[in-house]
Amino acid sequence: MYVAADNRYSLTPYARCGRSGLKLPQISLGLWHTFGDTSSPANAREMVLKSFDHGITHFDLANNYGPPPGAAEKNFGRILKEDLSSYRDELIISTKAGYDMWPGPYGEWGSRKYLLASLNQSLERMGLDYVDIFYSHRFDPDTPLDETIGALATAVHSGKALYVGISSYGPQKTREAVAIARELKLPLVIHQPSYSILNRWVEKELLGILETEGVGCIAFSPLAQGLLSNKYLNGIPDDSRAAQNHFFNKNMLTQANIANVRALNAVAQRRGQTLAQMAIAWVLRQPAVTSALIGASRWQQIEDCLGALRNTRFSKPELDEIDKHAADGGLNIWAQSSQSG
Ligand code: NAP
Repeated sequence: MYVAADNRYSLTPYARCGRSGLKLPQISLGLWHTFGDTSSPANAREMVLKSFDHGITHFDLANNYGPPPGAAEKNFGRILKEDLSSYRDELIISTKAGYDMWPGPYGEWGSRKYLLASLNQSLERMGLDYVDIFYSHRFDPDTPLDETIGALATAVHSGKALYVGISSYGPQKTREAVAIARELKLPLVIHQPSYSILNRWVEKELLGILETEGVGCIAFSPLAQGLLSNKYLNGIPDDSRAAQNHFFNKNMLTQANIANVRALNAVAQRRGQTLAQMAIAWVLRQPAVTSALIGASRWQQIEDCLGALRNTRFSKPELDEIDKHAADGGLNIWAQSSQSG
C-alpha cells in the first residue's frame, strides 16, 4: 500500500496562482503522453506517486489525452483509486475540453452542450465528484464566448469544478473571457499557454494582461517537448517522443537547430544545470508564471526537472546568450505547432 513521503511539503515551492487563493507547485506534471494505454501502467504509477512524494500536487489532464483519447484520465483514475484516494484534498487535478473527442457536432470546440457533457465523462473516467480546475482547451471562433464561459460557470455552480481556466487563448480573447468571468463572479484563475525559450508568443502581450488581471499562468511544454534537453544532441533515441510520436515534428531536428540546442546546453552547463533544468528555470523567472507544466516518460526526468528550482535567477549576459541561440533556425516555428496538443 502506498504511503506518501512525510517530507513531501519541504521539497517543492508553491506559488500563488495570480491573485486567487490557489497555490500551485512551481513544477506540475502533465499527462498528455506516456499515460495512455500504450504506456506501462507501472511506469505511470511510479511517475505520479514519486512526483507527489516530492511535493508535486498538481496533475494536468484533458479529455483527449491517451492514446486512445480518454485513456490518460482512465489510467490516472485507477492510480487515484488504488493509491491516492485518501490524499484527494492534497491534489489539484485539472482537465479540459476543446479538441475532438467524439463524432458529430457536439464532440469538440466550445459549446455548452460539448463542454458540460465532456466534463461529466471526464469525472466518470477518473472516478471523481469534481475536478479542481476545468479548462476551455481552445477558443472557439464559432461559439459566443458568453456561452463557453457560461458553461464553465455552470461547471462551478454544479460543484463539478472548483476553479476554471482557459488554454491557448490569444490576448484579446483572454481579456474578453476574463471580463465575462468577472461579471459572473466566476473564479477564472488560470491560463495555460505554451511557453519556452523557443516559443515566446506569450511575451508580447499575454503575460502582461495576465499580471494586470490577476490571472495565473501555467506554461505548457517548457522543454519544447524534449528538444530543450540533452537527449537529441547525438541523434534520435529510439525511446524518445521524436521517434515515437507524430506530435513531435522531426523536421526541426536539423543540424543548424541542434547546433543551437548545443549552444544552449553549454550555457546551462556553465550555470551548473542540465538544459532541461535551465529551460524550466527560464520560464519560471517570469513573475506572471505560476508553474511550469512538464511532461515526462520516466521518473528520473521529473527528478532532474525538479533540480531547476535550485536556481531560477539569470544574469543579463546569460539571458542575452540564450536569446542569441534561440532566435535562429526556425525553432520558434516548430514550437508553435506544439500549441495544438
Ligand atoms: P515538455 O516538458 O516540454 O516535454 C516533455 C518531454 O520532454 C518528455 O516526454 C520527455 O521526452 C522530455 N523530458 C522531460 N524531462 C526531461 C529531462 N529532465 N531530460 C530530458 N528529457 C526530458 O512538455 P509536454 O509533454 O510537451 O507538455 C507538458 C504538459 O503540458 C502535457 O502533459 C499537458 O498536460 C500540457 N499540454 C497542454 C497543451 C494545451 O493545449 N493546453 C498542449 C500540450 C501540452 P521523451 O518522452 O522523449 O522522453
